[in-house]
Amino acid sequence: MNIIFATNNRHKLEEVQAVLGEGFRLTTPRELGITEEIPEEQATLEGNASQKARYLYERTGKNCFADDTGLEVAALGGAPGVRSARYAGPGHDSQKNMELLLSNMAGKTDRRARFRTVISLILDGEEHLFEGTVEGTILDAPRGEAGFGYDPVFVPEGYDTTFAEMSAEAKNAISHRGRAVARLAAFLASRR
Ligand code: IMP
Repeated sequence: MNIIFATNNRHKLEEVQAVLGEGFRLTTPRELGITEEIPEEQATLEGNASQKARYLYERTGKNCFADDTGLEVAALGGAPGVRSARYAGPGHDSQKNMELLLSNMAGKTDRRARFRTVISLILDGEEHLFEGTVEGTILDAPRGEAGFGYDPVFVPEGYDTTFAEMSAEAKNAISHRGRAVARLAAFLASRR
């Protein structure tokens, strides 16, 4: 099955392709000549995933899906949430975002957080939503070099290591995105 994935991020594409397996051929917007930034202007992860998938469906008329992820920190009322990529301002600077998070968490004893991914799939014109979450805690200083984003300050529940101290395989097996994509994969397999 051919399906469009709303990302031009090579790392994400490979990760998702690995979970979906060889029965699915993922196409990127760029391969279809869609080079503009796909709009994500909504106030929720669901809204953004949906907006991106619908945009691509309107442009192509083909099966497609989009994802959106946020880090939801209990002591910050769910922030940075849908604003995770631009928490410290526009420009997608992971280091600055992480520093702001740590400074906002200084002195807080409730360290609970979760990563949440929402995927919107448009299959034969109908939308289906899938969610994946991973619970954990925020450290007070970064640890580890792997991964990206907030990985160095997030320790998943039941582990002593941050996401940035795990292999990609170990992280994908328990991560928010890994779980959401596994649900998408199970659904697509049932429809083939
Ligand atoms: P996106 O929706 O996948 O682009 O994610 C939005 C933002 O959430 C990213 O820019 C990162 O800051 C953060 N994020 C998403 N996934 C992860 C992850 O697996 N580890 C750490 N940070 C993440």
